[in-house]
Amino acid sequence: MTTESTAMLVACPRCNGLNRVPQARLADAPRCGKCGAALFDGHPLALDDAGFHAHVECAALPVLVDFWAPWCGPCRAMAPQFEAAAAQLEPRLRLAKVDTEAKPALGGRFGIRSIPTLVLFRQGRELARQSGAMGAADIVRWAHQYL
Ligand code: ZN
Repeated sequence: MTTESTAMLVACPRCNGLNRVPQARLADAPRCGKCGAALFDGHPLALDDAGFHAHVECAALPVLVDFWAPWCGPCRAMAPQFEAAAAQLEPRLRLAKVDTEAKPALGGRFGIRSIPTLVLFRQGRELARQSGAMGAADIVRWAHQYL
């Protein structure tokens, strides 16, 4: 028996390094083997291109991405709700944010036409998306359908 089958590839929020974490240990505050940062801090992670590549495309942990922009009122209104949802959903999945004003190519790549839009990814593939602001409880309920 190997731990390979039950290990989860998790990217580090600080250095984007990939860590193999046994699934049974995900909730035990795992730390990055490269830089020592906590792999989960209960807060959404702001993703740039390198972060998106590491967390969404390389890591195996599902990622719920909030595509948003600073000028969008509903996006700003949803931010604390998304923050609250992160505390409830980690470490079963990572919550992350993409600022479509700062990173228009990422929004364009996924055909984001309205914001806020939530997209749930697993191993780089889109599982589901939902447009429009949601409360924390609705975000958690929506994400749980796909876990
Ligand atoms: Zn690290």
